[in-house]
Amino acid sequence: MEQTASMHAIRAAHAFDGERFLQGGATVLVEGDRIIGVEPGGFEVPEGVELTSYDGTLLPGLVDAHVHLVSDGEMGSLERAGTLDDDGLDAMIEGSLRAQAAAGVTTVRDLGDVGFRTLAWRDRAEPGLPRIVAAGPPLTTPGGHCHYLGGEVEGVAGMRAAVAAHAARGVDVIKVMASGGMLTLGSDVFGVQFTAEELRAAVDAAHDAGLRLLAHAHSLAGIEHALAAGADGIEHFSCLTENGPSWSEDLLARVAEAGVVVGPTHGQLLDRLPTLEQLPPAIVAVFEKFGMRPDEMRARRMEVFTRVRAHGIPVCSGLDAGAAPPKPHGALWSAVDWLADAYPVDEALATATSFAAEQCGLGAETGRLRASYAADLLVVDGDLSRDVKRLSQPVAVWVRGLAQPS
Ligand SMILES: [Zn+2]
Repeated sequence: MEQTASMHAIRAAHAFDGERFLQGGATVLVEGDRIIGVEPGGFEVPEGVELTSYDGTLLPGLVDAHVHLVSDGEMGSLERAGTLDDDGLDAMIEGSLRAQAAAGVTTVRDLGDVGFRTLAWRDRAEPGLPRIVAAGPPLTTPGGHCHYLGGEVEGVAGMRAAVAAHAARGVDVIKVMASGGMLTLGSDVFGVQFTAEELRAAVDAAHDAGLRLLAHAHSLAGIEHALAAGADGIEHFSCLTENGPSWSEDLLARVAEAGVVVGPTHGQLLDRLPTLEQLPPAIVAVFEKFGMRPDEMRARRMEVFTRVRAHGIPVCSGLDAGAAPPKPHGALWSAVDWLADAYPVDEALATATSFAAEQCGLGAETGRLRASYAADLLVVDGDLSRDVKRLSQPVAVWVRGLAQPS
């Protein structure tokens, strides 16, 4: 291998390559912003190449496939984003990106901003900050879920025009609210948003523009609605009914058959969970309706995802970072930790690395330890294959070859 001054090597006792753990760890050779070689842990690095060794686990930088950069996760911050000017939005976006990078997240997919502001940051591609894939303001019904982000739309013609306008602005993906959400007072978390015709028009217009469409659906009805319309992915997939989460094997079989990708967005920092008194009344009302405590909800959702796996439905991890206090930017590890209750650790990690990168259209660029890929790298403390919670303990992070300050 030809050697240049900027080449350096990173060695770790354990390694995950985006798909599987590598026995005996790995030595990754980096030049500039690229990985130029992935060698065994015992590889003898060429003379003169600087080598840094770690006891922990080396893996590709994480991909959080569901974030809201315009919001920092404080109570009400997503709604407040709708009132910020460009300077306020920029400050929020930069803070969110820095928090993500510090945690080892090197790519984010933003599924709801204000005024397409995240696209400016995407195009700027600032060194050291995560790359961005962005949807712009999510499309919603007048007064519907997240209407305050500015994406209200009505009617089949209106929907076609809105999707075309988003495509013209250069978005990477279309996000549509197919059900209400907990965070929007007066939106119906158990029902659907848009008519079947409007939702179908959104999917068709997105596909005409060469874009995939992701539907937000908490309700079981919303999932059926999105599935019938031909959505490519369903975010949340909470299967909510007035009796709590509920699903059928038939539904999951149809989701699998349609090739729909599901984003559970379930991670949360338990020590940041608000008390019932701190929660907005709309959310308290939802829990009261189920007669179910949040931990019981969590267990029911895990049952759903156990069956999702059994049906072979692909899962893409994302946190919904920025949406609420237990979901700060950089806590994607908690989504992987949650999924690993039902999935093997390597599968759970792939949903937040190689597979998430593919879902972002970046499957040949990031998400794997592989020569020619971007040097998006994360080292965490300890052996990740034995303890997935180690994902919350970053030791070193490189974003496109640039080391994060530690
Ligand atoms: Zn969201």
